[in-house]
Amino acid sequence: MLIDNHGRTINYLRLAVTDRCNLRCNYCMPSEGIDFAKNDNLLTIDELIKVSRILVDQGIDKIRITGGEPFVRKDVMVLLRELSKMPRLNDISVTTNATLIGPHIDELKELGIKNVNVSLDSINRETFERITRRKQFDTVHNNLIRLITEGFNVRINFIVLEGQNEQDIIPILDVMKHYEVSVRFLEEMPFNGGSKNFGFIKWNYHAIIEHIRKTYPDFKKLESPKTSTSINYQIEGHKGTFGVIPSFSRTFCGSCNRLRVTATGDVITCLYGKPKANLRDILRETKSGESVSNTIIDVIGKRAKTGFEAQKEHAKTVFNNSMTSIGG
Ligand code: SAM
Ligand code: SF4
Repeated sequence: MLIDNHGRTINYLRLAVTDRCNLRCNYCMPSEGIDFAKNDNLLTIDELIKVSRILVDQGIDKIRITGGEPFVRKDVMVLLRELSKMPRLNDISVTTNATLIGPHIDELKELGIKNVNVSLDSINRETFERITRRKQFDTVHNNLIRLITEGFNVRINFIVLEGQNEQDIIPILDVMKHYEVSVRFLEEMPFNGGSKNFGFIKWNYHAIIEHIRKTYPDFKKLESPKTSTSINYQIEGHKGTFGVIPSFSRTFCGSCNRLRVTATGDVITCLYGKPKANLRDILRETKSGESVSNTIIDVIGKRAKTGFEAQKEHAKTVFNNSMTSIGG
């Protein structure tokens, strides 16, 4: 079992399989001039499988595949097939923009991969295209409905962006009330490749909740797992639920069970901190699984207590990194 220096059990790996993406969401990356990693610097599929096996042996029982857009990577299904054979893995999940998942839906179902998070920040075509800077609205909509109707456990990630999509908060709840999905509203974080530096966000947890309360005064709070980052609610008469993720306010650090590995093998022990080691270099230099597991034990033994503490590792308050390299 992996336990950090603050007594928190680490059992959840967020594994980014690529830093590339076919969308250009404006809260995630700049429209152009992005410094993507060279192909040689990305973990190969064999390395991703190896790292996953080592971490599962150490006690990871949940892996979320993320990116960049995971399905941009042509061989991502090879990894998912291998993960689905690991008996100690209780939960394999995917976070996707739902543009390229269509051809893989049947196989995901066969592999028993049920948890799919879909990023969708607007139900209005124009707003969607303005935010993502691409024309993929119909594909995303069709794949989302297909995932829901095929019985996947779908959660929608909706980042509330000042001046961009706040008018869609209520409409997305109205549309989704007919479906068993969870709509999770996320606070925006300053990771879009470096142009943002905010000490304050308008759409924080309280503002989102109060906005929803004006239309739906009687929602009730739901019990959530201790390690959940979302605070979840149910509106009467709605099939699904909604949640708010205070990703900027960071009220969930006390129960954080996560470890992140980026597509280039960087180990991130806190989203707001700096990478602590590089597993690709260790694997390629030493060819030793033991060196990888020792590194993991070492970095987990030195974790920052909170995101605010980790943030001090950065010299300035502007984060140059983009979510596309970290994986969310
Ligand atoms: N491409 C996939 C997707 O969009 O779902 C997976 C990668 S994306 C980086 C993972 C998650 O990070 C998405 O839910 C996205 O909305 C979220 N994200 C990206 N930039 C963010 C930001 N600046 N603040 C908060 N969440 C962000
Ligand atoms: Fe791509 Fe996901 Fe970032 Fe949007 S949030 S640009 S879909 S990686």
